[in-house]
Amino acid sequence: MSRFWSPLVHTLTPYVPGEQPKIANLIKLNTNESPYGPSPHALDAIKAATNDSMRLYPDPEALALRTALGQRVGLGADHVFVGNGSDEVLAHAFQALFAHGEPLLFPDISYSFYKVYCGLYKLPYRMVPLSADMRMVVEDYTGPCSGVVIANPNAPTGIALGLDAIRKLLDMHPDRVVLVDEAYVDFGAQSAVELVRDYPNLLVVQTFSKSRALAGARVGFAFGQPDLIEALVRVKDSFNSYPLDRLAQAGALASVEDEAWFTQSVQRVMASRAMLSEGLRELGFEVLPSMANFVYTRHPDRDAGELAAQLRARAILVRHLKGERTMAWLRITVGTQEQCQALLDVLRDSVLRNS
Ligand SMILES: *Cc1c(COP(=O)(O)O)cnc(C)c1O
Repeated sequence: MSRFWSPLVHTLTPYVPGEQPKIANLIKLNTNESPYGPSPHALDAIKAATNDSMRLYPDPEALALRTALGQRVGLGADHVFVGNGSDEVLAHAFQALFAHGEPLLFPDISYSFYKVYCGLYKLPYRMVPLSADMRMVVEDYTGPCSGVVIANPNAPTGIALGLDAIRKLLDMHPDRVVLVDEAYVDFGAQSAVELVRDYPNLLVVQTFSKSRALAGARVGFAFGQPDLIEALVRVKDSFNSYPLDRLAQAGALASVEDEAWFTQSVQRVMASRAMLSEGLRELGFEVLPSMANFVYTRHPDRDAGELAAQLRARAILVRHLKGERTMAWLRITVGTQEQCQALLDVLRDSVLRNS
């Protein structure tokens, strides 16, 4: 607290990111990073771009990257926005598209940053409860609103909606934007990007941080019709003309061009997810059906906070989110096959053995 602060700053409750501890040999399953490295071509491109041209500003429009992202899904660069991580893309979207006076609708259990942006931009919001089995009920997203934001697959549940449900949401609110945050869509869910042509009110947001293993480069993007993209560009150019540096643009572009690496690493994560889910169920855990690179799980008679602490003491980090409806659950990132096995072994041979 300080008398120098603008009044708004006193009211902010910032997002708290997962721990990034500097402990060696840690099995880090708490922030949904990829256990595999980025495409080797992406790393080569970043190295190749590390030269004298770094004295020059990067392309403020990131046109090569936007063109490649659009081409991959059959859209022009005018349908693509890029930002410094999808968090920044989301922030710009909240400011550019959701300040209409009515509440913004999003699930009560979802990415906790949505609430934070509402605080930052003073947007009223209404959280729509997930059902008892942790599913989104799209019929509940009714009434006057400034827009709808969902994560699909949802985080931290991992449960995905089909395109029928997304279409229903879009049809329910033709005069409001429905933002679909697809941070985890590449791990088996269906992307709404194919609906962009038909729905002027759809904005699809994705990221290089999860399926493309470039969380360190901070690159996110959005697909939408050109007038939505223009709104984002206006906000961006009123904030920071160069959100993507030269290295990020070069690495992201090479990553998009390496479809083989992408497919392979996503498939490896999906295979480990099946093995981890099955192993947890064998140990007595309930595991929600995940389409993401993490699983959401609870044990019928173990305290989740205790489990997380005991795993941490054995150098395995998982995420335990506080809050009434999430307290009983653990969110565990899908690591390599070996990491998942190590987690299961520690649970079986040690943590679940001591009571
Ligand atoms: C990780 C994540 C993001 C943000 O990713 P960036 O690293 O900022 O691109 C956005 N939404 C959800 C649901 C996420 O889990």
